[in-house]
Amino acid sequence: MSELLDLPWHEAQAQASPRELVDASLRAIETRDESVHAFLHVNADARGDGMPLAIKDNIVTTDMPTTCGSRILSNFTSPFDATAIARLRANGASFVGKTNLDEFAMGSSTEHSAFGPTRNPWDLSRVPGGSSGGSAAAVAARMVPAALGSETGGSVRQPAAFCGVVGLKPTYGRISRSGLVAFASSLDQIGIVTKTVRECAELLGVIAGADPLDSTSSTQPVDDYAADLASGVRGLRFGVVREAVERLEGEVRANFDEALNVLRGGGAIIEDARVPAISYAIAIYYIVANAEASANLSRFDGVRFGHRSERSKTLDDLYFHSRGEGFGAEVKRRIMLGTFALSSGYYDAYYGRAQAVRATLRGQFADAFARFDFLLTPTTPEPAFKIGAKTDDPLSMYLSDIFTAPANLVGIPAIAVPSGFSAEGLPLSLQLMAPHFGERALFRAAAFFERETEYWKRKPR
Ligand code: GLN
Repeated sequence: MSELLDLPWHEAQAQASPRELVDASLRAIETRDESVHAFLHVNADARGDGMPLAIKDNIVTTDMPTTCGSRILSNFTSPFDATAIARLRANGASFVGKTNLDEFAMGSSTEHSAFGPTRNPWDLSRVPGGSSGGSAAAVAARMVPAALGSETGGSVRQPAAFCGVVGLKPTYGRISRSGLVAFASSLDQIGIVTKTVRECAELLGVIAGADPLDSTSSTQPVDDYAADLASGVRGLRFGVVREAVERLEGEVRANFDEALNVLRGGGAIIEDARVPAISYAIAIYYIVANAEASANLSRFDGVRFGHRSERSKTLDDLYFHSRGEGFGAEVKRRIMLGTFALSSGYYDAYYGRAQAVRATLRGQFADAFARFDFLLTPTTPEPAFKIGAKTDDPLSMYLSDIFTAPANLVGIPAIAVPSGFSAEGLPLSLQLMAPHFGERALFRAAAFFERETEYWKRKPR
């Protein structure tokens, strides 16, 4: 049974019926998830004639609850499916469960879930990354062939890196956000986690595309994302983001240099690229994301959505207690920071300036992409850290996103691909970024790298 889920999807499908594959997935969850805790809900009656999928629990589904990892939504089931879910359903997908996340996708470790942390399948004493930690761990532990996550600043790529799987953040607007619970609307995108690049490309083809329910979804035609997977990288131009890698050392640096050699071996042209404003990305991100979050989360007030406190006599009281009881500490921190950044007298100094530097960053990326087809960094500055190592130090937690947040701020697609292992046996990962709507090219380069290295074949014990 486990062997079936070790195979890339097109091979698994050739060897077993859809029913057998869904059963294999449900059995794998039953035996493995006790130690990993990737799932918040399991759908034992999952049906369908396609791929068994796990869905991050901030994407709404009519057949399972959607909690966003929060007490405030612990009893919520959506009356409608997210557009991505509806498209997958129409394609026969079986939704086997909903995966754990940092509350409202705010975090980098899945430790901010109200329902307990997920553990990294490679080392149960470590975090799987976050906020889509449950989705990445579920794929890494071979409980499902693929999962959906969400990205605001790295929440698919960073956990994919920590768990040794493929993670895609598509171009802003490529996938409808209808039914993805909003965190920061100018940054949010649904993302995809898989074992291999091909599975990722095929899934994107199913869920991408314009949607009348999301006015920010793009009308750009959906590409044939798997068309160039075998084309290699000869003559393609890769820029190494100097500002991102110059201070890196140790294993992550050595692994990144090895990855460059793999690409060079395929005939890629590799040169230095400059994106100086990248050093401000974390500062911009945490102002913009929290400001937008403070507005988006106002709908959880105990009246329209969410837990309603029993302790209230007045309406103000009802808001106060419902939100006070429902939200966890990290979400409260973000709402306070975001409200402050938007408040009268501070708006220009924080939100206004962050947006201005964001525009500068966008310009520098555009300049770099005039010379390069791709930009490269490691996906994360370090491999998976220990559970508890950063929970008392929000700033060091925020720095986990240093290489991933720039793509969200600029709206470009980026992919994380396994690039090897640390001496301790923890996964390492290479990030490739491409210009807007360059997903097809990203898959081409990532597939070359995957074929040369085959790290995806290793799995946690
Ligand atoms: N880790 C980042 C944060 O905490 C990114 C989260 C995300 O992409 N949803 O905000």
